[in-house]
Amino acid sequence: MVVVANRLPVDQVTDPDGSTRWQRSPGGLVTALEPFVAGRSGAWVGWSGSAGDAPEPFESGGMSLVPVPLSEEEVDRYYEGMSNASLWPLYHDVVEKPEYHRTWWDTYVQVNKRFAERTAEVAGEGAIVWVHDYQLQLVPAMVRQRRPDLTIGFFLHIPFPPYELFTQLPWRSAIVEGLLGADLVGFQRPSAAANFVQLARRLHDLPARSSTIEYDGRTVTARAFPISIDVRAFEELAASPQVVKRAEEIRAELGNPSRIILGVDRLDYTKGITVRLDAFQELLEEGVVQTPDTVMVQVATPSRERVEHYVHMRETIEQQVGHINGVHGTLGGPAVHYINQSVPREELAALYRAADVMLVTPYRDGMNLVAKEYVAARSDLGGALVLSEFAGAAAELRQAFLVNPHDIAGVKNQLVRALRLDPAEGAKRMRAMRRHLAKNDLEHWANSFFEALRAQA
Ligand code: UDP
Repeated sequence: MVVVANRLPVDQVTDPDGSTRWQRSPGGLVTALEPFVAGRSGAWVGWSGSAGDAPEPFESGGMSLVPVPLSEEEVDRYYEGMSNASLWPLYHDVVEKPEYHRTWWDTYVQVNKRFAERTAEVAGEGAIVWVHDYQLQLVPAMVRQRRPDLTIGFFLHIPFPPYELFTQLPWRSAIVEGLLGADLVGFQRPSAAANFVQLARRLHDLPARSSTIEYDGRTVTARAFPISIDVRAFEELAASPQVVKRAEEIRAELGNPSRIILGVDRLDYTKGITVRLDAFQELLEEGVVQTPDTVMVQVATPSRERVEHYVHMRETIEQQVGHINGVHGTLGGPAVHYINQSVPREELAALYRAADVMLVTPYRDGMNLVAKEYVAARSDLGGALVLSEFAGAAAELRQAFLVNPHDIAGVKNQLVRALRLDPAEGAKRMRAMRRHLAKNDLEHWANSFFEALRAQA
Protein backbone atom coordinates (compact mmCIF):
# COMPACT_ATOMS: atom_id res chain seq x y z
CA MET A 1 0.00 0.00 0.00
CA VAL A 2 1.35 3.41 -0.94
CA VAL A 3 -0.29 6.69 0.07
CA VAL A 4 0.64 9.69 -2.07
CA ALA A 5 -0.24 13.11 -0.66
CA ASN A 6 1.14 16.62 -0.92
CA ARG A 7 2.39 16.43 2.67
CA LEU A 8 4.08 13.64 4.58
CA PRO A 9 2.27 12.61 7.78
CA VAL A 10 5.04 14.19 9.88
CA ASP A 11 6.28 17.71 10.62
CA GLN A 12 9.84 18.67 11.33
CA VAL A 13 10.17 20.25 14.78
CA THR A 14 13.17 21.96 16.31
CA ASP A 15 13.95 21.24 19.95
CA PRO A 16 15.28 23.91 22.35
CA ASP A 17 18.84 22.59 21.88
CA GLY A 18 18.57 23.29 18.15
CA SER A 19 18.29 19.67 17.05
CA THR A 20 15.47 18.68 14.71
CA ARG A 21 13.22 15.64 14.69
CA TRP A 22 10.06 14.40 12.95
CA GLN A 23 6.79 14.53 14.79
CA ARG A 24 3.56 12.92 13.62
CA SER A 25 1.20 15.57 12.22
CA PRO A 26 -2.00 16.19 14.09
CA GLY A 27 -5.11 15.75 12.00
CA GLY A 28 -7.61 13.08 11.25
CA LEU A 29 -6.44 11.99 7.84
CA VAL A 30 -3.13 10.71 9.16
CA THR A 31 -4.92 8.79 11.92
CA ALA A 32 -7.33 7.27 9.42
CA LEU A 33 -4.74 6.18 6.88
CA GLU A 34 -1.96 5.09 9.18
CA PRO A 35 -3.43 1.64 9.97
CA PHE A 36 -3.67 0.86 6.26
CA VAL A 37 -0.13 1.89 5.53
CA ALA A 38 1.59 0.74 8.73
CA GLY A 39 -0.34 -2.55 8.87
CA ARG A 40 0.85 -3.44 5.38
CA SER A 41 4.48 -2.32 5.68
CA GLY A 42 3.52 0.40 3.27
CA ALA A 43 4.95 3.72 2.20
CA TRP A 44 3.82 7.35 2.25
CA VAL A 45 5.13 9.63 -0.49
CA GLY A 46 4.93 13.37 0.22
CA TRP A 47 6.61 16.72 0.66
CA SER A 48 8.25 17.51 4.00
CA GLY A 49 6.82 21.02 4.16
CA SER A 50 10.07 22.93 3.71
CA ALA A 51 11.76 23.90 0.46
CA GLY A 52 15.16 22.55 -0.51
CA ASP A 53 16.77 19.14 -0.57
CA ALA A 54 14.77 16.25 0.82
CA PRO A 55 16.11 13.71 3.28
CA GLU A 56 16.45 10.04 2.29
CA PRO A 57 13.41 7.80 2.92
CA PHE A 58 13.07 6.87 6.59
CA GLU A 59 10.93 4.66 8.81
CA SER A 60 8.35 6.18 11.12
CA GLY A 61 5.34 4.67 12.87
CA GLY A 62 5.71 1.41 10.95
CA MET A 63 5.65 3.23 7.59
CA SER A 64 8.34 4.02 5.11
CA LEU A 65 8.21 7.78 4.55
CA VAL A 66 9.43 8.91 1.14
CA PRO A 67 10.13 12.66 0.99
CA VAL A 68 9.73 14.47 -2.33
CA PRO A 69 11.93 17.59 -2.61
CA LEU A 70 10.48 20.93 -3.74
CA SER A 71 12.53 24.04 -4.50
CA GLU A 72 11.39 27.52 -3.37
CA GLU A 73 10.27 28.25 -6.90
CA GLU A 74 8.30 25.01 -7.09
CA VAL A 75 6.55 25.80 -3.80
CA ASP A 76 5.59 29.19 -5.25
CA ARG A 77 4.34 27.89 -8.58
CA TYR A 78 3.04 24.37 -7.95
CA TYR A 79 1.68 24.84 -4.42
CA GLU A 80 0.79 28.47 -3.81
CA GLY A 81 0.19 29.24 -7.48
CA MET A 82 -1.41 26.41 -9.43
CA SER A 83 -2.87 24.56 -6.43
CA ASN A 84 -4.04 27.41 -4.24
CA ALA A 85 -4.58 30.33 -6.61
CA SER A 86 -5.84 28.44 -9.73
CA LEU A 87 -7.41 25.12 -8.78
CA TRP A 88 -8.68 26.04 -5.29
CA PRO A 89 -10.85 28.98 -6.42
CA LEU A 90 -11.93 27.23 -9.65
CA TYR A 91 -13.06 24.12 -7.77
CA HIS A 92 -14.87 26.28 -5.20
CA ASP A 93 -17.22 27.81 -7.79
CA VAL A 94 -14.87 30.72 -8.61
CA VAL A 95 -15.80 32.51 -5.38
CA GLU A 96 -12.60 34.45 -6.16
CA LYS A 97 -11.30 34.70 -9.70
CA PRO A 98 -8.74 31.97 -10.42
CA GLU A 99 -5.46 33.03 -11.98
CA TYR A 100 -4.03 30.91 -14.78
CA HIS A 101 -0.31 31.09 -15.53
CA ARG A 102 1.57 28.80 -17.87
CA THR A 103 4.67 28.82 -15.66
CA TRP A 104 2.56 27.59 -12.73
CA TRP A 105 1.10 24.83 -14.87
CA ASP A 106 4.50 23.72 -16.19
CA THR A 107 5.76 23.45 -12.62
CA TYR A 108 2.61 21.57 -11.55
CA VAL A 109 3.32 19.00 -14.29
CA GLN A 110 6.97 18.76 -13.27
CA VAL A 111 6.17 18.27 -9.58
CA ASN A 112 3.40 15.74 -10.27
CA LYS A 113 5.91 13.82 -12.37
CA ARG A 114 8.36 13.75 -9.48
CA PHE A 115 5.69 12.39 -7.12
CA ALA A 116 4.77 9.75 -9.72
CA GLU A 117 8.39 8.71 -10.22
CA ARG A 118 8.99 8.28 -6.50
CA THR A 119 5.75 6.29 -6.21
CA ALA A 120 6.64 4.04 -9.13
CA GLU A 121 10.04 3.37 -7.53
CA VAL A 122 8.78 2.40 -4.08
CA ALA A 123 5.54 0.51 -4.83
CA GLY A 124 5.79 -3.29 -4.58
CA GLU A 125 4.53 -5.59 -7.33
CA GLY A 126 0.74 -5.30 -7.67
CA ALA A 127 0.53 -2.77 -4.81
CA ILE A 128 -2.43 -0.52 -4.12
CA VAL A 129 -1.71 3.19 -4.51
CA TRP A 130 -3.98 5.83 -2.99
CA VAL A 131 -3.37 9.37 -4.28
CA HIS A 132 -4.84 12.39 -2.47
CA ASP A 133 -6.21 15.71 -3.53
CA TYR A 134 -6.08 18.54 -6.01
CA GLN A 135 -2.33 19.12 -5.88
CA LEU A 136 -1.69 15.70 -7.45
CA GLN A 137 -4.34 15.17 -10.11
CA LEU A 138 -1.86 14.13 -12.81
CA VAL A 139 -0.22 11.49 -10.65
CA PRO A 140 -2.68 8.61 -11.34
CA ALA A 141 -2.00 8.54 -15.12
CA MET A 142 1.72 9.20 -14.64
CA VAL A 143 2.00 6.27 -12.23
CA ARG A 144 -0.03 3.97 -14.47
CA GLN A 145 2.20 4.74 -17.42
CA ARG A 146 5.23 3.66 -15.41
CA ARG A 147 3.60 0.81 -13.46
CA PRO A 148 0.58 -0.79 -15.16
CA ASP A 149 0.60 -3.56 -12.52
CA LEU A 150 -0.64 -1.22 -9.76
CA THR A 151 -4.21 -0.60 -8.62
CA ILE A 152 -4.65 3.15 -8.34
CA GLY A 153 -7.21 5.13 -6.35
CA PHE A 154 -7.61 8.89 -6.17
CA PHE A 155 -9.62 10.88 -3.63
CA LEU A 156 -10.45 14.56 -4.06
CA HIS A 157 -10.95 16.27 -0.69
CA ILE A 158 -12.36 19.47 -2.16
CA PRO A 159 -15.42 19.99 -4.40
CA PHE A 160 -15.38 19.16 -8.10
CA PRO A 161 -17.02 21.85 -10.23
CA PRO A 162 -19.62 21.43 -12.97
CA TYR A 163 -18.68 21.27 -16.66
CA GLU A 164 -19.42 24.96 -17.26
CA LEU A 165 -16.81 26.06 -14.72
CA PHE A 166 -14.22 23.31 -15.11
CA THR A 167 -13.86 23.95 -18.82
CA GLN A 168 -12.38 27.40 -18.06
CA LEU A 169 -9.18 25.63 -17.20
CA PRO A 170 -6.67 25.91 -20.07
CA TRP A 171 -5.33 22.46 -19.12
CA ARG A 172 -8.71 20.79 -18.56
CA SER A 173 -8.01 17.78 -20.79
CA ALA A 174 -4.73 17.02 -19.09
CA ILE A 175 -6.36 17.02 -15.66
CA VAL A 176 -9.20 14.73 -16.75
CA GLU A 177 -6.71 12.37 -18.39
CA GLY A 178 -4.60 12.45 -15.23
CA LEU A 179 -7.56 11.42 -13.07
CA LEU A 180 -8.69 8.75 -15.54
CA GLY A 181 -5.38 7.02 -14.84
CA ALA A 182 -7.01 5.83 -11.59
CA ASP A 183 -9.25 2.77 -11.27
CA LEU A 184 -11.38 4.51 -8.66
CA VAL A 185 -11.91 8.26 -8.33
CA GLY A 186 -13.56 9.29 -5.06
CA PHE A 187 -15.38 12.55 -4.30
CA GLN A 188 -17.06 14.07 -1.24
CA ARG A 189 -20.55 14.34 -2.76
CA PRO A 190 -22.48 12.35 -5.37
CA SER A 191 -22.97 15.57 -7.37
CA ALA A 192 -19.18 15.99 -7.67
CA ALA A 193 -18.80 12.42 -8.96
CA ALA A 194 -21.59 13.13 -11.45
CA ASN A 195 -19.79 16.31 -12.58
CA PHE A 196 -16.68 14.29 -13.30
CA VAL A 197 -18.52 11.58 -15.25
CA GLN A 198 -20.32 14.21 -17.30
CA LEU A 199 -17.05 15.96 -18.02
CA ALA A 200 -15.41 12.78 -19.27
CA ARG A 201 -18.42 12.10 -21.46
CA ARG A 202 -18.71 15.59 -22.95
CA LEU A 203 -15.10 16.64 -23.13
CA HIS A 204 -13.57 13.36 -24.22
CA ASP A 205 -16.60 11.73 -25.82
CA LEU A 206 -16.13 8.66 -23.61
CA PRO A 207 -18.81 6.02 -23.08
CA ALA A 208 -20.01 6.49 -19.50
CA ARG A 209 -22.80 5.26 -17.26
CA SER A 210 -23.94 6.87 -14.02
CA SER A 211 -20.77 5.98 -12.12
CA THR A 212 -18.38 4.34 -14.59
CA ILE A 213 -16.37 5.55 -17.54
CA GLU A 214 -14.82 3.33 -20.21
CA TYR A 215 -11.35 4.60 -20.96
CA ASP A 216 -8.33 3.09 -22.62
CA GLY A 217 -9.72 -0.46 -22.35
CA ARG A 218 -10.39 -0.06 -18.59
CA THR A 219 -13.38 0.80 -16.45
CA VAL A 220 -12.90 3.82 -14.19
CA THR A 221 -15.37 4.15 -11.31
CA ALA A 222 -16.33 7.59 -9.94
CA ARG A 223 -18.22 7.58 -6.64
CA ALA A 224 -18.84 9.61 -3.50
CA PHE A 225 -17.12 8.67 -0.24
CA PRO A 226 -17.99 11.46 2.20
CA ILE A 227 -15.09 11.94 4.60
CA SER A 228 -15.70 12.17 8.32
CA ILE A 229 -14.00 12.58 11.69
CA ASP A 230 -12.97 10.19 14.43
CA VAL A 231 -16.40 10.57 16.00
CA ARG A 232 -15.80 8.53 19.14
CA ALA A 233 -12.51 10.26 19.97
CA PHE A 234 -14.02 13.71 19.51
CA GLU A 235 -17.11 12.81 21.51
CA GLU A 236 -14.96 11.53 24.39
CA LEU A 237 -12.80 14.63 24.34
CA ALA A 238 -15.81 16.95 24.35
CA ALA A 239 -17.51 15.05 27.19
CA SER A 240 -14.37 14.89 29.37
CA PRO A 241 -14.63 16.70 32.73
CA GLN A 242 -11.88 19.18 31.78
CA VAL A 243 -13.59 20.20 28.55
CA VAL A 244 -17.04 20.44 30.16
CA LYS A 245 -15.54 22.62 32.89
CA ARG A 246 -13.73 24.75 30.33
CA ALA A 247 -17.01 25.24 28.43
CA GLU A 248 -18.54 26.68 31.60
CA GLU A 249 -15.54 28.96 32.05
CA ILE A 250 -15.90 30.17 28.47
CA ARG A 251 -19.53 31.08 29.07
CA ALA A 252 -18.50 32.96 32.19
CA GLU A 253 -15.62 34.72 30.40
CA LEU A 254 -18.08 35.87 27.77
CA GLY A 255 -20.24 37.38 30.53
CA ASN A 256 -22.78 34.54 30.78
CA PRO A 257 -24.79 35.62 27.76
CA SER A 258 -28.04 33.81 27.13
CA ARG A 259 -26.94 32.94 23.58
CA ILE A 260 -23.50 32.29 22.08
CA ILE A 261 -23.10 32.07 18.32
CA LEU A 262 -19.89 30.37 17.15
CA GLY A 263 -17.95 30.25 13.89
CA VAL A 264 -14.73 28.26 13.43
CA ASP A 265 -12.88 28.43 10.13
CA ARG A 266 -9.59 28.78 8.43
CA LEU A 267 -9.49 32.36 7.17
CA ASP A 268 -10.52 31.45 3.64
CA TYR A 269 -12.74 33.29 1.17
CA THR A 270 -14.73 30.11 0.55
CA LYS A 271 -15.94 30.01 4.17
CA GLY A 272 -18.41 32.90 3.99
CA ILE A 273 -17.25 34.56 7.20
CA THR A 274 -18.56 37.96 6.07
CA VAL A 275 -22.01 36.44 5.46
CA ARG A 276 -22.23 35.55 9.13
CA LEU A 277 -21.01 38.93 10.26
CA ASP A 278 -23.54 40.62 7.93
CA ALA A 279 -26.39 38.52 9.31
CA PHE A 280 -25.41 39.16 12.94
CA GLN A 281 -24.87 42.87 12.30
CA GLU A 282 -28.30 43.30 10.68
CA LEU A 283 -30.03 41.43 13.50
CA LEU A 284 -28.30 43.70 16.01
CA GLU A 285 -29.23 46.81 14.03
CA GLU A 286 -32.86 45.70 13.80
CA GLY A 287 -32.94 44.95 17.53
CA VAL A 288 -33.91 41.32 16.87
CA VAL A 289 -30.96 40.32 19.03
CA GLN A 290 -29.10 42.42 21.60
CA THR A 291 -25.70 42.48 23.19
CA PRO A 292 -24.63 41.47 25.81
CA ASP A 293 -27.49 38.97 25.77
CA THR A 294 -26.27 37.45 22.51
CA VAL A 295 -22.61 37.41 21.48
CA MET A 296 -20.65 35.89 18.65
CA VAL A 297 -17.28 34.13 18.76
CA GLN A 298 -15.44 33.82 15.46
CA VAL A 299 -12.27 31.75 15.32
CA ALA A 300 -10.54 32.61 12.05
CA THR A 301 -7.30 30.66 11.89
CA PRO A 302 -4.57 32.29 9.77
CA SER A 303 -4.11 30.51 6.44
CA ARG A 304 -2.17 30.91 3.16
CA GLU A 305 -0.96 34.33 4.23
CA ARG A 306 1.30 34.68 1.20
CA VAL A 307 -1.58 34.50 -1.28
CA GLU A 308 -2.96 37.97 -2.05
CA HIS A 309 -6.69 37.18 -1.85
CA TYR A 310 -6.20 36.02 1.70
CA VAL A 311 -4.48 39.21 2.85
CA HIS A 312 -7.27 41.30 1.39
CA MET A 313 -10.00 39.15 2.89
CA ARG A 314 -8.51 39.33 6.35
CA GLU A 315 -8.53 43.13 6.19
CA THR A 316 -12.19 43.17 5.15
CA ILE A 317 -13.23 40.83 7.96
CA GLU A 318 -11.26 42.67 10.61
CA GLN A 319 -12.72 45.98 9.52
CA GLN A 320 -16.22 44.56 9.77
CA VAL A 321 -15.56 43.08 13.23
CA GLY A 322 -14.19 46.46 14.30
CA HIS A 323 -17.29 48.21 12.98
CA ILE A 324 -19.73 45.84 14.70
CA ASN A 325 -17.86 46.13 17.99
CA GLY A 326 -17.59 49.90 17.67
CA VAL A 327 -21.35 50.26 17.29
CA HIS A 328 -22.71 47.38 19.38
CA GLY A 329 -20.01 46.57 21.90
CA THR A 330 -19.47 47.99 25.35
CA LEU A 331 -16.34 48.57 27.42
CA GLY A 332 -14.96 45.09 28.02
CA GLY A 333 -17.94 43.57 26.21
CA PRO A 334 -17.46 43.17 22.46
CA ALA A 335 -20.32 41.86 20.34
CA VAL A 336 -17.94 39.75 18.25
CA HIS A 337 -15.04 37.98 19.92
CA TYR A 338 -12.60 37.54 17.07
CA ILE A 339 -9.71 35.10 17.38
CA ASN A 340 -7.14 35.18 14.59
CA GLN A 341 -5.10 32.32 15.99
CA SER A 342 -4.93 28.58 15.72
CA VAL A 343 -6.96 27.07 18.54
CA PRO A 344 -6.03 23.67 20.02
CA ARG A 345 -8.53 20.80 19.80
CA GLU A 346 -9.42 20.81 23.50
CA GLU A 347 -10.30 24.50 23.42
CA LEU A 348 -12.30 24.01 20.19
CA ALA A 349 -14.21 21.16 21.82
CA ALA A 350 -15.01 23.43 24.79
CA LEU A 351 -16.17 26.19 22.43
CA TYR A 352 -18.46 23.71 20.65
CA ARG A 353 -19.90 22.65 24.02
CA ALA A 354 -20.41 26.28 25.03
CA ALA A 355 -22.05 27.45 21.80
CA ASP A 356 -25.83 27.60 21.45
CA VAL A 357 -25.63 28.05 17.70
CA MET A 358 -22.86 26.89 15.40
CA LEU A 359 -22.88 28.99 12.25
CA VAL A 360 -21.25 27.33 9.22
CA THR A 361 -21.83 29.31 6.04
CA PRO A 362 -19.30 28.43 3.30
CA TYR A 363 -20.11 29.42 -0.27
CA ARG A 364 -18.64 26.04 -1.21
CA ASP A 365 -16.82 23.46 0.89
CA GLY A 366 -15.74 19.90 0.09
CA MET A 367 -17.05 18.58 3.40
CA ASN A 368 -16.59 20.95 6.39
CA LEU A 369 -15.38 18.90 9.31
CA VAL A 370 -16.16 21.66 11.80
CA ALA A 371 -19.88 20.96 11.31
CA LYS A 372 -19.34 17.28 12.05
CA GLU A 373 -17.15 18.05 15.08
CA TYR A 374 -19.87 20.27 16.52
CA VAL A 375 -22.42 17.46 16.25
CA ALA A 376 -19.97 14.93 17.71
CA ALA A 377 -19.25 17.30 20.61
CA ARG A 378 -22.92 17.66 21.58
CA SER A 379 -23.53 14.42 23.46
CA ASP A 380 -25.65 16.63 25.75
CA LEU A 381 -28.01 17.04 22.73
CA GLY A 382 -27.83 20.81 23.19
CA GLY A 383 -27.02 23.42 20.57
CA ALA A 384 -28.15 24.01 17.01
CA LEU A 385 -26.31 23.82 13.72
CA VAL A 386 -26.88 26.35 10.94
CA LEU A 387 -25.24 24.90 7.84
CA SER A 388 -24.70 26.01 4.26
CA GLU A 389 -26.31 23.85 1.59
CA PHE A 390 -23.06 24.19 -0.31
CA ALA A 391 -20.95 22.31 2.24
CA GLY A 392 -20.52 18.59 1.59
CA ALA A 393 -21.75 17.98 5.14
CA ALA A 394 -25.20 19.27 4.16
CA ALA A 395 -25.76 16.13 2.07
CA GLU A 396 -25.61 14.17 5.34
CA LEU A 397 -26.64 16.46 8.20
CA ARG A 398 -30.17 17.00 6.95
CA GLN A 399 -31.54 18.03 10.37
CA ALA A 400 -29.35 21.13 10.47
CA PHE A 401 -30.87 24.54 9.73
CA LEU A 402 -29.80 24.61 6.10
CA VAL A 403 -29.09 27.96 4.48
CA ASN A 404 -28.07 29.45 1.16
CA PRO A 405 -25.17 31.73 2.15
CA HIS A 406 -25.88 34.06 -0.78
CA ASP A 407 -29.31 34.79 0.70
CA ILE A 408 -28.72 37.00 3.73
CA ALA A 409 -32.43 37.22 4.58
CA GLY A 410 -32.60 33.43 4.60
CA VAL A 411 -29.49 33.15 6.78
CA LYS A 412 -30.98 35.64 9.25
CA ASN A 413 -34.26 33.71 9.39
CA GLN A 414 -32.58 30.41 10.07
CA LEU A 415 -30.21 31.98 12.60
CA VAL A 416 -33.14 33.42 14.53
CA ARG A 417 -34.94 30.06 14.42
CA ALA A 418 -31.81 28.37 15.75
CA LEU A 419 -31.39 30.99 18.50
CA ARG A 420 -35.00 30.49 19.62
CA LEU A 421 -35.06 26.74 19.20
CA ASP A 422 -37.19 24.75 21.60
CA PRO A 423 -34.80 22.42 23.49
CA ALA A 424 -36.88 19.29 22.79
CA GLU A 425 -36.93 20.01 19.07
CA GLY A 426 -33.20 20.78 19.17
CA ALA A 427 -32.45 17.51 20.93
CA LYS A 428 -34.44 15.63 18.30
CA ARG A 429 -32.48 17.19 15.47
CA MET A 430 -29.15 16.66 17.22
CA ARG A 431 -29.95 13.02 18.00
CA ALA A 432 -30.74 12.28 14.35
CA MET A 433 -27.50 13.89 13.15
CA ARG A 434 -25.49 12.09 15.80
CA ARG A 435 -27.00 8.77 14.76
CA HIS A 436 -25.85 9.36 11.20
CA LEU A 437 -22.35 10.37 12.29
CA ALA A 438 -21.91 7.39 14.61
CA LYS A 439 -22.26 5.07 11.62
CA ASN A 440 -20.31 7.24 9.21
CA ASP A 441 -17.03 7.98 10.91
CA LEU A 442 -13.53 8.36 9.52
CA GLU A 443 -12.73 4.69 9.78
CA HIS A 444 -15.86 3.87 7.81
CA TRP A 445 -14.73 6.33 5.12
CA ALA A 446 -11.24 4.87 4.80
CA ASN A 447 -12.55 1.27 4.85
CA SER A 448 -15.18 1.93 2.20
CA PHE A 449 -12.72 3.57 -0.15
CA PHE A 450 -10.12 0.89 0.40
CA GLU A 451 -12.60 -1.95 -0.09
CA ALA A 452 -13.99 -0.37 -3.27
CA LEU A 453 -10.46 0.05 -4.58
CA ARG A 454 -9.47 -3.49 -3.73
CA ALA A 455 -12.53 -4.74 -5.58
CA GLN A 456 -11.08 -3.11 -8.73
CA ALA A 457 -7.75 -4.91 -8.43
N1 UDP B 1 -9.09 23.51 13.40
C1 UDP B 1 -8.20 23.53 14.47
N2 UDP B 1 -7.86 24.73 15.02
C2 UDP B 1 -8.36 25.90 14.56
C3 UDP B 1 -9.28 25.88 13.49
C4 UDP B 1 -9.62 24.67 12.93
O1 UDP B 1 -7.73 22.48 14.91
O2 UDP B 1 -7.99 26.95 15.09
C5 UDP B 1 -9.44 22.21 12.79
C6 UDP B 1 -10.92 21.86 12.95
O3 UDP B 1 -11.12 21.26 14.20
C7 UDP B 1 -11.16 20.94 11.76
C8 UDP B 1 -10.18 21.45 10.71
O4 UDP B 1 -9.25 22.28 11.38
O5 UDP B 1 -10.81 19.61 12.09
C9 UDP B 1 -10.86 22.22 9.60
O6 UDP B 1 -11.47 21.33 8.71
P1 UDP B 1 -12.65 21.79 7.74
O7 UDP B 1 -13.04 20.62 6.91
O8 UDP B 1 -13.78 22.38 8.53
O9 UDP B 1 -12.05 22.96 6.85
P2 UDP B 1 -10.69 23.08 5.98
O10 UDP B 1 -9.81 23.96 6.79
O11 UDP B 1 -10.16 21.70 5.78
O12 UDP B 1 -11.11 23.77 4.72
